[in-house]
Amino acid sequence: MLLLRFLNVVAPAYFLSISLVTFGLQLFLFIPSMFQDPSAAPLCPSALLHGALFLFFSANAVGNYILVIQNSPEDLGTKEDQSLASGGAGEGAKVVPPGQEEDGNGQPSAVLPGTHFCRLCARVTQRHDHHCFFTGNCIGSGNMRNFVMFCLYTSLACLDSLVAGVAYISVVLSTSFASPLAFLTLLPHSITQFFSGALLSSEMFVILMLYLWLGIGLACAGFCCHQMLLILRGQTRYQVRKGMAARARPWKKNLEEVFGKRWLLGLLIPMLNVGSDYHKQKEK
Ligand SMILES: [Zn+2]
Repeated sequence: MLLLRFLNVVAPAYFLSISLVTFGLQLFLFIPSMFQDPSAAPLCPSALLHGALFLFFSANAVGNYILVIQNSPEDLGTKEDQSLASGGAGEGAKVVPPGQEEDGNGQPSAVLPGTHFCRLCARVTQRHDHHCFFTGNCIGSGNMRNFVMFCLYTSLACLDSLVAGVAYISVVLSTSFASPLAFLTLLPHSITQFFSGALLSSEMFVILMLYLWLGIGLACAGFCCHQMLLILRGQTRYQVRKGMAARARPWKKNLEEVFGKRWLLGLLIPMLNVGSDYHKQKEK
């Protein structure tokens, strides 16, 4: 438990420091280097386009990150949330009367199928999916949409930084990345060059960041795809783990429950999932 609590503090700090480093490298190194290119005139629009694209990806990633934390697990201990639970549960909902929601261990028992008490957050999450260490919060019905958007845009921002970083390194070190093996041999080559003094520490740092962006980008993309698959099936990670059956209803309804009717707007700007079934119940 102590290790989990430690991870809950270290992981957000790790995410924030990587974000700051990525911002710094993009805004002060990659984008200015695109403008300073000898063939700057034809490159200028592409440099501007790249800058705008990166800001769009990162604004969405950070915006949704904040919204995931803001829409953290709801406390089902209050009267208001219990009435929400009774309305929002759908089939088989069973609401425990106030004052009886604690089990023998002094912890609230599961009120609805898929509802879970997280010991790290010390709160109950409706349609619990998992505890995300990078946001330090539980992912459930309240913040699932923002979490998927966060994964999607973090992945895009990382892959965008990877492309910009590869372009920067290929100019600075005059290396070609035409061969698919070039990226694999880049790390061992640059480590040898770095220790022989032929490579600056800033260049070595950018090369290490390339591999980190690739790793985070692919991991987030995989996570996003897996999450989308579960949403379409109407299941949560928690339900899969507990062997609970998926809800038998059309995939369109499952999708609408999480993304709401204004999903396209939510895809472009970080916003609450206003218009989704869950938030309609909460507004009542
Ligand atoms: Zn949690």
